Amino acid sequence: MLRLVFPLFAPLWRQLGCASVADVLARCDMKGELRDMGGALTYLYGDYGSRPQRAPWFVHALVSTHYYFGGAFFPTGGSASIAKTLVAGILRRGGKVFVRAPVSEITIENGRAVGVVCRGVELRAKVAVISAAGFRNTFGTADKDAKGQRALLPDEVAAPTRGLLQSPGGTTTDKPERVPASMAFVYLFVGLDASDEELGIKARNVWSMRDFDHEAAFAHFNQLDLNPCDVPSIDDLPAVFLGSASAKDSSWPSRHPGKAAMTVLCPVKAEWFERWEGTKIKNRGDEYKDVKALWASLLLEALYKHWPQTKGHVVYSDVATPLSNDFYLASSKGEAYGLDHVTTRFDSMRAMRALHPQTLVPGLFMTGQDIAVVGVVTAMVAGAITATRVSYRAGLRFMLEMMFV
Ligand SMILES: Cc1cc2nc3c(=O)[nH]c(=O)nc-3n(C[C@H](O)[C@H](O)[C@H](O)COP(=O)(O)OP(=O)(O)OC[C@H]3O[C@@H](n4cnc5c(N)ncnc54)[C@H](O)[C@@H]3O)c2cc1C
Repeated sequence: MLRLVFPLFAPLWRQLGCASVADVLARCDMKGELRDMGGALTYLYGDYGSRPQRAPWFVHALVSTHYYFGGAFFPTGGSASIAKTLVAGILRRGGKVFVRAPVSEITIENGRAVGVVCRGVELRAKVAVISAAGFRNTFGTADKDAKGQRALLPDEVAAPTRGLLQSPGGTTTDKPERVPASMAFVYLFVGLDASDEELGIKARNVWSMRDFDHEAAFAHFNQLDLNPCDVPSIDDLPAVFLGSASAKDSSWPSRHPGKAAMTVLCPVKAEWFERWEGTKIKNRGDEYKDVKALWASLLLEALYKHWPQTKGHVVYSDVATPLSNDFYLASSKGEAYGLDHVTTRFDSMRAMRALHPQTLVPGLFMTGQDIAVVGVVTAMVAGAITATRVSYRAGLRFMLEMMFV
């Protein structure tokens, strides 16, 4: 189907949807006096993690308009309630959920995916194997810096699909990746001894930008050469995000009266944390603790700059780094959003074939953000699309449940 339809719409798609955000701004003549307006219209690139020169226009439009139509959404009870609701739904339908259950390989028999191996135990699939672990975890990566990453598929099975996301020519091992890993961040999680209401914090996101010219801000950031164990200054950062999860959660005041919880984050280079690769989570040594303390001070400075009223109320703080993402999200270079949202991810049949729910491996399907775009809702929609691809009956049932239950 894709093969038939795509060539018809490809020129229009490349021209409109897959033009970069920067291209569209240039077409609208957003330079000179209008430069700052272009910067203001594109400040939320941090939501999908790819700056205007690289990001496709349609992704930016999707993210921007989802705020426009009624603002944003936040689950009552916080993000844990998403997992609780999904798990309850799976159990109700007779499924099983395992936690702390890393899959080490997808079993292939006669070229077909038939199950997975988890902690040495082989689990056979009844209908199909669906990987929600991300493209790089499933098929591997040609990125030499993505240390310790091993594909779930044997290399000879994974290579043809992986090759679709690499530049043509050369051998499969040395061809550059056309779709790299997305941005990495450092996060500061903050607990306060006063409520959002008392502090006057509203349910909204703040992106504080260094400059309206995001490319210039990144050019400055990219040429930063930090000493080991050092951190940049706040003015070196291209963007800082600040938000209060407690202010967005309607159940928070009754669950945690008189308290608030905030997150502050900023983009970083994964290589700044390379020296602690291979160390164990929660036991990475004193140097790492010292660097985390420097990051905590830096991001607290950002918090106090925007909400000075929080000063004196911070009773808890903890820092997470790209290494934390590698541990908790099984990322390879600390990337927050899976594959990067670059134009080359969406502009060719090769890329679309690689990031399709039905993989080139019989019996194996993909789902999650890498076959759609970043976002909780889009990842869920990807789940519905994959389920429909595996079984049209399941897809129909899902749609009926959505409409009537
Ligand atoms: C800090 C942060 C803030 C965000 N904020 C928002 C937001 O406000 N709104 C929004 O819509 N989206 C947000 N996102 C994006 C959103 O969380 C993701 O797009 C979404 O969770 C992707 O879902 P997924 O299931 O595709 O991937 P993931 O949520 O990454 O799930 C993949 C899972 O697979 C597991 N896994 C990988 N390999 C294996 C293996 N071998 N065996 C077993 N398990 C494995 C990983 O541990 C991981 O749990 C945010 C992301 C981050 C990192």
